[in-house]
Amino acid sequence: MRVLLVEDDDRLAAALITALDRHGHQVTRTGLAVDALRLAGGVDFVLLDLGLPDMDGLDALRRLRRVSAVPLIVVTARTEEREVLRGLRSGADDYLVKPFRTVELMARMEAVVRRGTRPRPQRDDVVQVGDVRIDLESRQVTVAGEPVTLTRREFDLLAMLAREPGVVRGREEILDEIWGDPLLSASRSLDVHVANLRSKTGRPGLVETLRGTGYRLGSPA
Ligand code: CA
Repeated sequence: MRVLLVEDDDRLAAALITALDRHGHQVTRTGLAVDALRLAGGVDFVLLDLGLPDMDGLDALRRLRRVSAVPLIVVTARTEEREVLRGLRSGADDYLVKPFRTVELMARMEAVVRRGTRPRPQRDDVVQVGDVRIDLESRQVTVAGEPVTLTRREFDLLAMLAREPGVVRGREEILDEIWGDPLLSASRSLDVHVANLRSKTGRPGLVETLRGTGYRLGSPA
């Protein structure tokens, strides 16, 4: 298989390349998430380290999953269960915690391939509610044809709701996905972002609050 190895640790990468090579795989290696996003389209398998210097690994994983259904195993030094769950929820097919034996990696890769390909994400790139148009691919929002400037997190929050219109997303779930922390530390920040989305778009109904439950994409009329 053509394997993309995304690992910034030179020594570990060298060891993995040797092992993968011995098993007949052709390896492309990069230490940067930005390259991983660029190269993932041309390979059969991705091994992704979550601790990368240029981007949070889970962010990289989510972004990669928006464009590719390539089989992928996350390789990480993070051991907390929360991180593992988040990785799998973000689209990893399996998870290996460092240090691991290469024979274990090969077995896991084979198992993922045997399981078959996941359905390619089928999402509308553009979500239209009333006169609000949310382009998830180009990350642009217009209201009545006029562009609205949002911060990265404001857009991420809106996009999370827009990807599944009608579905209520809990506060914890949102804090986990957008802030990377399901605990209450960013809670006030979430309120501010919701308020900003309502005022910047001039459509207070765009983000609907369900008291004690969470938020969903509302009808802006
Ligand atoms: Ca690393």
